[in-house]
Amino acid sequence: MPAISFEFYPPKTDEQRAQLDRTAEKLKVYAPDYVSCTFGAGGSTLSYTSETVRHLHQHHGFESVPHLSCVGGSREEIRELLRLYRALGCRRVVALRGDLPSGMGFTGDLRYASELIAFIRSEHGDYFHIEVGAYPETHPQADDALTDLKHFKAKVDAGADGAITQYFYNPDAYFHFVDQVRKAGVEIPIIPGIMPISNFTQLRRFSEACGAEIPRWIGKRMQAFGDDAEAVRDFGADVVAGLCERLVAGGAPGLHFYTLNLAKPTQAVLSRLNVAR
Ligand code: FAD
Repeated sequence: MPAISFEFYPPKTDEQRAQLDRTAEKLKVYAPDYVSCTFGAGGSTLSYTSETVRHLHQHHGFESVPHLSCVGGSREEIRELLRLYRALGCRRVVALRGDLPSGMGFTGDLRYASELIAFIRSEHGDYFHIEVGAYPETHPQADDALTDLKHFKAKVDAGADGAITQYFYNPDAYFHFVDQVRKAGVEIPIIPGIMPISNFTQLRRFSEACGAEIPRWIGKRMQAFGDDAEAVRDFGADVVAGLCERLVAGGAPGLHFYTLNLAKPTQAVLSRLNVAR
């Protein structure tokens, strides 16, 4: 049975909070190893993540894991957040560079995720289990795949314990990436990030921005379904469940679901995999 984890974003309104509570209740049946909560650089969004992490742990009983990005933040701000997460009982963090929101001038004290990991280790030793991002289809800003791989290895050398990938729909991209990092001497688990498909138009837009490829055959089938939302959902769930099966059969040690705070698309995939526990 692969390890399962769910990713949520921090709700900002009462309506969004109620939706996250409903989603969390529905996904509990899958007994995730942990749930994680994303983090947006800058200003008031900082506290939404910590509030959500606290709520998911105290109200829902999950091991609750904050994402933490360094872009746009000072060492002192990051130090404060780490203290807060430690006080909340968090033992695991997802450490990222993040992306600077447009118009934000200060780029931050730490430039890359590898520097953030080194900072966490220097402040807290081995206290936190650190997950990092990995890009089987190459990070969109990387000069080339090999340089990106070198930068990924730098995060592991700085102290990362595990990695979660950007989502992808071509399992060979994952298997090739894992092969390459193993050849480079990296031994940490690489957990595939899984994006269930619900709104295809939104997914296509988002995928262009983050450099995730949607295979042509999937795009063409989706196009053919047009406004038939049920057909889109069923086909999307079949495709993603098939992807998960291939990944697990090929040795993926877990599955990390990008839920977008919705239960149904993730449930549709998991119900096809028969992994209720
Ligand atoms: P890095 O590993 O620092 O790499 C960023 C880029 O810089 C890459 O192109 C890399 O090749 C290059 N690079 C690295 N080191 C060097 C160096 N020394 N010299 C030159 N170039 C270098 N974003 C958020 O804002 N909030 C979130 O909560 C969040 N959660 C995420 C969760 C997961 C699992 C993943 C995969 C991504 C997440 N992201 C999140 C998105 C992420 O922040 C972006 O993809 C961001 O652009 C890169 O972050 P990173 O930690 O992978 O960066």
